[in-house]
Amino acid sequence: MNNVRASVHRCCTQGSVPGEDWLSDKAAALLLSCGPSPIHDLERTLSMLIADCHCGRVRIEVAGPPEFLVDCNCSICRRYGALWAFYALEGSRIEGTVEHAEGYIWGEKTISTFHCRHCGCVTHWEPLKPKANAKFAINARLLEPGAIQGVRVRRFDGAESWAYLD
Ligand SMILES: [Zn+2]
Repeated sequence: MNNVRASVHRCCTQGSVPGEDWLSDKAAALLLSCGPSPIHDLERTLSMLIADCHCGRVRIEVAGPPEFLVDCNCSICRRYGALWAFYALEGSRIEGTVEHAEGYIWGEKTISTFHCRHCGCVTHWEPLKPKANAKFAINARLLEPGAIQGVRVRRFDGAESWAYLD
């Protein structure tokens, strides 16, 4: 791990290193796994959060904690027990869906809600026909609990009024 830190220091910080331990082991591991993306995306990489299903086959990377979480009472969300966090599709990364996830489409057929075929976790939903600046939502229960600690949960009345109740 020390080698990773050293290489990050040399590459990205140009002499403005705040201290030896400024980069946690977890963050360093994240950097290691970021593949070909330029290491100068350091700040962005460090703020990315990962939502993965229990078996790890479906993995979604999103940009940092959401502003709020959505607890919806519609017929499907209440059954899933999901807590939704919205993000722009652009800049997020969804991996493993094609090979390992199943989409469920119902009602007005505007979105598909995915679950992992192997472990059953509901991972996210995506618009079926994404427009420019389209958003999607991840099941925030798949994030590390600490990542959403203290984030406000908003109750959405998807069952009737289609409005927030708070
Ligand atoms: Zn899984």
